[in-house]
Amino acid sequence: MLRKITGYHKDDAYDWVAELECYHNQHVRHRPPFQVRKWTQSESGRDSMLGSELECVLCNDLAWPEALVFKRRTPEFNQQDFPEGLKKDHSTKAGVWGRITVVEGLLHYHCDAPVDRSLLLEAGMSAAIPPGLRHRVEPQGPVRFYVEFFAR
Ligand SMILES: [Zn+2]
Repeated sequence: MLRKITGYHKDDAYDWVAELECYHNQHVRHRPPFQVRKWTQSESGRDSMLGSELECVLCNDLAWPEALVFKRRTPEFNQQDFPEGLKKDHSTKAGVWGRITVVEGLLHYHCDAPVDRSLLLEAGMSAAIPPGLRHRVEPQGPVRFYVEFFAR
């Protein structure tokens, strides 16, 4: 998924790391002639790239970012009783991660492009919902599940 650059830091090897709006980090190394990112070498260059987008493969892998803070949890839903909105394509807001957990039964979790994956979640399994990713759920028979929301 394309994610905006919101800041930078240096890693232990003094390479520049871009901080993305999804809370993932991505190296933006300048190692000519292999990797040329001259803009990382000056503060004005880095500032000029704030807000531009990088492809975040960690989001595409549904990888959970570090240091998220729990915000709220839905009630427990079942196959009959859950919000209509969850059946249709929908997404969380910018900066909000969801985590869907199945307590009992089976639940299909469908992610739209660019992730383009379907996961079959069993009891005890959780899956990440990256901010802004269109997705929907589909109960496979009797199921109990809930969703938690996290941000920074
Ligand atoms: Zn990401």
